[in-house]
Amino acid sequence: MAWRVSNASKCAGYEKDRDPESRKAQHRKSHHKRREKILPYQKKKCLERKMEAIRVYSDGSMKCAFCPESRLYALGLDHVNGDGATQRKDGPRGCVATSLWAKKNGWPKVFRVLCHNCNWLASLLPRASPGLSCYKSADKLKEQTICHYSEGSMACPCGISDIRVLTIDHPDADGAAHRRALGVVGGSQLYRRLRQAGFPPGYRILCFSCNLATYLEQKAGSVPH
Ligand SMILES: [Zn+2]
Ligand SMILES: [Zn+2]
Repeated sequence: MAWRVSNASKCAGYEKDRDPESRKAQHRKSHHKRREKILPYQKKKCLERKMEAIRVYSDGSMKCAFCPESRLYALGLDHVNGDGATQRKDGPRGCVATSLWAKKNGWPKVFRVLCHNCNWLASLLPRASPGLSCYKSADKLKEQTICHYSEGSMACPCGISDIRVLTIDHPDADGAAHRRALGVVGGSQLYRRLRQAGFPPGYRILCFSCNLATYLEQKAGSVPH
């Protein structure tokens, strides 16, 4: 670094003459080299940002506004007015980016803390009750799938038994790759494929909060609460 500082003009000339592609390649190489060092710091920073926002918007309770859920990875920021989709179109996406945005804007009163289960249930409220037969058959299919993989308990191991927030989980955390291989998006399509295949082993039932918290905990390599 000291050489760079005392030879700034030489460096500037060198940087200017260099082909942009080779400059990009060099940048990628050095970023890759630093990545191992940077990653734990970045993860820690993201976690701190999220924790700060959750603390502010839960008034210090670090809990969901509707239920006792307190696992950090099972909590998120929910738009109070239910306009999250519109906000995400033009604004920040994801909990960490949203937390940063909220802090920069003086913690506006537009968010609340909800767990992923309550978040989903709250999003269902404005919709009309589906009375169509296709919804009924989809519900039946889901019920059958949940019943099979929960071995009849119809509940997540945490005790949540509201079928609206129960979902299929891949314990190996390869859900996205598996859905791609089957050519399905998820939901009814996946349930149908599993039923057609005679409910193969390798799946379990979790609620949305446990599903996402487990995935994020595995990804982060730690279990903060
Ligand atoms: Zn909740
Ligand atoms: Zn659960």
